[in-house]
Order: sequence, then structure tokens, then C-alpha cells
Amino acid sequence: MNTSAAKPGSAFALTLDDWSEWMEARGQGKFRAKQLVEWIYGKRARDWSEMSNLPAGLRTELAAEFSLDRIPVVRIAGSEDSTRKYLLRLHDGRLVETVRIPANVRFDGGRSDRITLCVSSQVGCAYDCKFCASGLAGFTRNLEVEEIVGQIVAAEEESGEPVRNLVFMGMGEPLANLSRLVKAITILNAPWGLNIGARHMTVSTSGLAPQIERLAELPIQIRLAVSLHGASDEVRERIMPVNRKYPLDRLFGALERWRSRKKQKITFEYILIEGVNDSPEQAALLAARARSLDAKVNLIPYNTVEGLDWRRPAEPVQESFLRTLVRGGVAATLRREKGHDIAAACGQLRLQQETVEGIVPVP
Ligand code: SAH
Repeated sequence: MNTSAAKPGSAFALTLDDWSEWMEARGQGKFRAKQLVEWIYGKRARDWSEMSNLPAGLRTELAAEFSLDRIPVVRIAGSEDSTRKYLLRLHDGRLVETVRIPANVRFDGGRSDRITLCVSSQVGCAYDCKFCASGLAGFTRNLEVEEIVGQIVAAEEESGEPVRNLVFMGMGEPLANLSRLVKAITILNAPWGLNIGARHMTVSTSGLAPQIERLAELPIQIRLAVSLHGASDEVRERIMPVNRKYPLDRLFGALERWRSRKKQKITFEYILIEGVNDSPEQAALLAARARSLDAKVNLIPYNTVEGLDWRRPAEPVQESFLRTLVRGGVAATLRREKGHDIAAACGQLRLQQETVEGIVPVP
């Protein structure tokens, strides 16, 4: 909790327990904390003065210590398929992207009539996957709890619709920002908070085995997606340096642990890149790997990234890869991309540090 007088902390960084502690330290009853979160998340108060059932003195104290500021949306890009990409400006001027994906596509291959929000966890990314735009300019910093929660708040308030599905598949490696991620998930999941069901939240990772094991112990039934992209160490290493640190056997050890703790199936994301990981041998190895964990596979034809030379295989190759998996007894889907035309699709989110002055603020 940031309690320095110079720089107010964000109200969106605290859990109900934090608020209860804060209230107790000031001789206030715990019920005040409940009233407060109702104002923050239920009624979306923008000013402390609105909080009419809190004593004036308490409101003054809150105002001195905390801010209710939203993260400003500086640009919204719209796509033909009605995907929206929000560009948000953080307090230090860094920019981060959040993508709102319309109904009926879900990242675990299921269907839903609700929108899905794809949120970022870091500014930039340190993992240097060779096919992804997000890592091109390297890693800048972790997002704070309020910057993760704030992406959902911003999208809900802009669209006027609640977010029901959430995927941590934006920029960054969520498991490299684990403590903040867990706190944000607590706030997002809580009935007093954003009230998003745990089963509707998917954390996606490039495969940080120790952190997967730690997250497995979190008593919330969130879903896990693993960016696999190679079914042998040799192939995976070529495009994902993280595989040298956590080779497939180590990764699968962690996934076994996850499976023993969580009810939902794990999803493997597998980008199809021509001539790299799209061979029938890789398909067969992937089928065996997925079967060993009873995992689902989501095939994603590679999305073009400016400056990178990879290409997606032709459709018949994609389909025969899919068939090998399905024949091998694996629940697999071939993803139909959304947002490709506005560079909002997977792997296309990149660090934007160009000045946004001159961009017409959104109304
Ligand atoms: N770091 C986490 C979260 C980012 S998720 C992770 O790796 O899972 C972003 C997803 O988009 C990952 O599955 C990633 O592998 C995928 N992706 C990256 N670049 C892509 C591209 N050019 N085309 C399609 N998918 C891509």
C-alpha cells in the first residue's frame, strides 16, 4: 500500500482486507471498508465527495492518501470485426494496450456471448520470443496492481458493458509479475470488486515452471494457457529462449502439479509458423504431449509482425496439422483471428513509446 503523502496511491490497488486494515487503524469499523468498495467498484464513484454514507473526516483522509483516477484512454482503434484496441497512458507516460474482443470467440476454443478483454501485464517483455512483437523493444517495467485492474475499469467504462471474460494475453509475461498479478486477480474476481468469475480468467504463460507451481497453489480456479509453439526442445528452443531455462520436461512437471490442483483443462497455444513448427512430426509429438495432460490445443496461424520474416503455413497445412491432433484424440481448434487489421491480434502488441500528442483525445 502506498501511503506516502507526496504521491497518492491508487484506490484500485487495495483489496477489501487492505481496506479493512486501513479502516481499523483509524478506529473505523470494518463495515466502512465494505461501504467504500461499494462506492469504488459498485457505483464507480469518481470523487470521494460522492461517498455520502462515509463521514466527512474519513473522506478527507481518503482523499489525502488515495486517488480514484482512471487510466486515460488516449486512442481507440476499431477493427472491421468490431475488435477494439485501447491505448492507455500510464502515469509515467508509458503506453499499454488492452484489446476488447467481441462476443462468440473465447481463447479456450469455447463459445461465449460475452466480450473478452485481453489485458497486458508488463510494459514490454523480457522473454524475447522470436515471433512476437511485444518483445522487440525489450522489457521496460512491470505493471502495478492498479494498472492491471485499471485496464478492465477503463474498458468497462468506455464501452458501458461489463467484462465477463479476461485473458492475460496482452503485452508481457504475467507470471514474471506474479505477486501483482495475484493481487489483481483477487480484486478482479471478488464479488465486491469486478466480480469476474475465476473460470472466466485465463493466465497465459511462455512457460515459467516455478511460477506455474506457485500459481497452482492459489485457491482460485483460474485457467492456464501455455504458449507452447514447439513440441520438442529442439524446435521450441529455436523460437523461445525461455525453453533453455525451463525445457519441456521441467515445464510438464509443473503442469502436472497444476493439474493436480485445478479442475479446468490446460490449453496449449500453438502458433503455426511455416517451416518451423508445422511438420507432421511436430503434430504427432504435440498430440502425445497434449494427451499426457489431457490438455486442449488452440492452433493459431502466425500473425504477421512488421520486421519479422515468419509466415503462416498454407491453409491445407494448417488443416492437416489440426487433423493429426484430432485423430490423436486431442481436443483441438484452429483459431480464427480477430483484430488482425488493427495489429491487435496475438503477438502484434508492441511497445509504443512514440509521443501521443496530436492524437485526438477520445470523447
Ligand atoms: N507471455 C505470455 C502472455 C502473452 S500471450 C505468453 O507467452 O503466453 C500472447 C499470445 O500470442 C501467446 O500465445 C503468444 O505466443 C502469441 N503470439 C505471439 N506472437 C504471435 C504472432 N505473431 N502470431 C500469433 N500469435 C502470437
